[in-house]
Amino acid sequence: MNTPPLRVTIWNENVHEQQEPSVAALYPDGIHGALAKSLAAPDLTIRTATLDEPEHGLTQDVLAATDVLLWWGHAAHDQVSDAVVARVQQRVWEGMGILILHSGHMSKIFRALNGTSGKLHWREAGELERVWCVDPAHPIAAGVPEHFELPYEEMYGEPFMIAGDAHLIFMSWFEGGEVFRSGFTLQRGFGRMFYFRPGHEAFPTFYHEQVLKVLANGIRWLKPTVDMPFPKTHRPEPLSPIAPKDFALHKVGIVKS
Ligand code: ZN
Repeated sequence: MNTPPLRVTIWNENVHEQQEPSVAALYPDGIHGALAKSLAAPDLTIRTATLDEPEHGLTQDVLAATDVLLWWGHAAHDQVSDAVVARVQQRVWEGMGILILHSGHMSKIFRALNGTSGKLHWREAGELERVWCVDPAHPIAAGVPEHFELPYEEMYGEPFMIAGDAHLIFMSWFEGGEVFRSGFTLQRGFGRMFYFRPGHEAFPTFYHEQVLKVLANGIRWLKPTVDMPFPKTHRPEPLSPIAPKDFALHKVGIVKS
């Protein structure tokens, strides 16, 4: 039996690419365009969406037809409409996977799903980042070496304000001395979330073989896993008879005989 392709939407605010020539030179089709090209595979159907499209390109129809959403944002978190954020959050609760990239840690959707501020320390000095895999048995780490290096990256440092139920897969060490929990998962409702830190817009991180491997694994792992309706229906008829109760029920719709 043929499995239908996983439907992936790559969302990018696409602001730095339009404002900074060096970023545009690095990502001439935008970070979303570069990722769409590099991650293309027969088992994926990939589309892209950006901030300046109507409804940021994330209409109800687009989200309904999205199994996994990737999110890159930085300079324009506050320009993302609350209605779209609520819509994305609802889809995650219903089972859509979401992969939050790099500075998406301060996006409205990350903070809504994570449940804490998402704050951290940072420094932009183009320093070495060494990414360590701390859960090699996790499917997102499949084929990824014990550690790999990114020669130029922005530093993110602990403490990183993330949810207590975060499952850690990657940690980073930086040339300047800091460490950071750079890859973790959460489950929210029926949906899964994966946060992966590398990917500052000024550096060619999204062309790095191991980074692309992690993202490719992440997309597959984020595939919706629950095949049942999201619980939001009133069920006045029980599956089994409910014994009469010896107290008066007052809720409308439940009649005491
Ligand atoms: Zn950055």
